Amino acid sequence: MVRIGFGYDVHVLQIGRPFILGGVHIPFEKGPLGHSDADVLLHALADALLGSLALGDIGHYFPPHDPQYRNMDSKEIVRTARTMVEEKGYALVNADMTVVLEKPRIGPYIGKMRETIASLLSVSVDSVSIKATTSEGMGFVGRGEGVQAYAVVLVARKQV
Ligand code: MG
Repeated sequence: MVRIGFGYDVHVLQIGRPFILGGVHIPFEKGPLGHSDADVLLHALADALLGSLALGDIGHYFPPHDPQYRNMDSKEIVRTARTMVEEKGYALVNADMTVVLEKPRIGPYIGKMRETIASLLSVSVDSVSIKATTSEGMGFVGRGEGVQAYAVVLVARKQV
């Protein structure tokens, strides 16, 4: 049996914040604002993993106003989502993600992000797809005010 999961996230970009995307630090003057490290891509991915088994969303397990999650490494959120999927008897088949961002150009970092995520989920790099697009100058993304990420995952029941 296979199931699909979808996740979406958005964060404001603020001057002086570190830009962490897909677990990788990208040098830039702005970074996503958030309670954790605000890794929009890992948040969308974690929500897709949870969504695949109707387990709710990351805000439920990591409440944004809980001080213990302040500046938290979002890789921990993905690890938790992965564990929850596995406890239901499922494993990730593949993940496909899109980042919508005007600046900076993230192409040079996509390989490292895919490796980071593949390692977090114990899958091969070719099971992890990350694409990037801009908003063609339109809207809040186009004005450089924010960054969005979308993720879909396929999970399959583990053979026992
Ligand atoms: Mg988020």
